Amino acid sequence: MSEAARRGLAIEVLASTGSTNADLRQRIGQLDAPLLLAAEAQTAGRGRAGRSWLAEPGDSLCFSLAWPFHIPLARLAGLPLAVGVAVASTLRALGRPVQLKWPNDLLLDGAKLGGILVESLPARAGQSAAPLWAVIGIGLNVHANSARDARLGHPAAILGGALDRNVLLAALADALSDTLGQFAAEGLAPFVDRWQRWHAHAGQPVVILEQGRVLHEGTATGIDAAGCLLLDTGGQLVSVAAGDVSLRIPVASESPDAAAD
Ligand code: ATP
Repeated sequence: MSEAARRGLAIEVLASTGSTNADLRQRIGQLDAPLLLAAEAQTAGRGRAGRSWLAEPGDSLCFSLAWPFHIPLARLAGLPLAVGVAVASTLRALGRPVQLKWPNDLLLDGAKLGGILVESLPARAGQSAAPLWAVIGIGLNVHANSARDARLGHPAAILGGALDRNVLLAALADALSDTLGQFAAEGLAPFVDRWQRWHAHAGQPVVILEQGRVLHEGTATGIDAAGCLLLDTGGQLVSVAAGDVSLRIPVASESPDAAAD
């Protein structure tokens, strides 16, 4: 029996919706157990800070997972990175050498393949499952789509090949069920080594932007135990928390296929 089935993970699939994260946020008050909600198409998919995530019908795998936690809110900070490891590990086992871009992106051949959006919500008063819920949204490009690429202004990375999206969803549900259970018990620690191994920008010069302004420049060295990015700024090690900062490759060292926005 798969891990997701063993844990009794309920899965619902919609033909189309605005955003699976928004749908689950609305339903948190009625949930007493984890729920995975997938959609064939999302018309208002979101990334961080309200940025949009584009998914045309049938070209991608978009889903969100609502999961109850019995840990303080501050300990959820590393969750997007643990989820990144779970997704990368599943895709690498399927022969796709996915890498991780801090804090929440999945890259393939230097281009953006997918994104992760984690939102947290308090439970309603008296809700039995847990005091805190995480809604974990994942969008992955599976097939080529010229309409999406035209809207993005460049070709997105895709998983490609003969991947069945239902099989992929089942594998990801299993991996995430394992990961979230382990994260609740042990935090980010069991995931740090694999995150570092699959870090797309290890040892590379990067800039950290906050609302378009350069906050830090340096060499990305990896992450710390809390999931902060460690940046060597010329002898000094700076730890950067995700918040709403963004990592970019400095223009001078950007290669044509490293346009990972
Ligand atoms: P950060 O590096 O801070 O995460 P980001 O620009 O990558 O910033 P996200 O919130 O992770 O922002 O993702 C949203 C962005 O991803 C959009 O602004 C767009 O540039 C890009 N994007 C949207 N849809 C797709 C897609 N299907 N494939 C690849 N990239 C996409």
